[in-house]
Amino acid sequence: MIIITNTIIAYEKVTTEEYCPFLQNRKPRNKSKDVEKKGGNGMDFSPTVQYGKNVRTIVKCVECNKPRVLYARHKISEEEFRLLQSFLESIEYTCGVTFKGLSEDIDVNEDSEKENNNKDDPIAELFKIVQINKKHTCTSVIEKPYFVARIFPQICNICGISEDLIQVENELPYCKKCHVSTGEKRKIGKSISDIEKPSFSSII
Ligand SMILES: [Zn+2]
Ligand SMILES: [Zn+2]
Repeated sequence: MIIITNTIIAYEKVTTEEYCPFLQNRKPRNKSKDVEKKGGNGMDFSPTVQYGKNVRTIVKCVECNKPRVLYARHKISEEEFRLLQSFLESIEYTCGVTFKGLSEDIDVNEDSEKENNNKDDPIAELFKIVQINKKHTCTSVIEKPYFVARIFPQICNICGISEDLIQVENELPYCKKCHVSTGEKRKIGKSISDIEKPSFSSII
């Protein structure tokens, strides 16, 4: 009798979720892989130069006044472009905010209307296509695609102003002030590809 009881206990143990390999394999599916994988920029695709050209517009942060590039996988239509422009004029953008989040923020005080709005809200639809890199903060330099796209006005890559620019060959544009403060960094021989990384000298 004792032997039979032990066998039953062991059998029961195996069939619980914790010990069943099939159920264990199913668990990771519940997690959103996309959110974990994309690591910080909040986008569904890479912020490439071409994707920036597809939108051909920027949004300026109201805190630091730096432009942030908008990206889309395919060229947006004239209608989408106009809609985007008029929306951007109506909002106050700050660095680190995604446009997905932005449209939600706007509806935050109108919960009752939120559901209706989202169903056929052209803005919400637009932001499924048009996205922004949310990893930028107000201390971040201007992202490289802004300059490489060559469709946006020349500005200082550190602070974003358009006055007193210095254009050194093979480097992104600097204003006089940032050119001096980043002088040390450039002497060490940082290449353009390094400029996109957070610049501590720009925080000072
Ligand atoms: Zn900012
Ligand atoms: Zn500057």
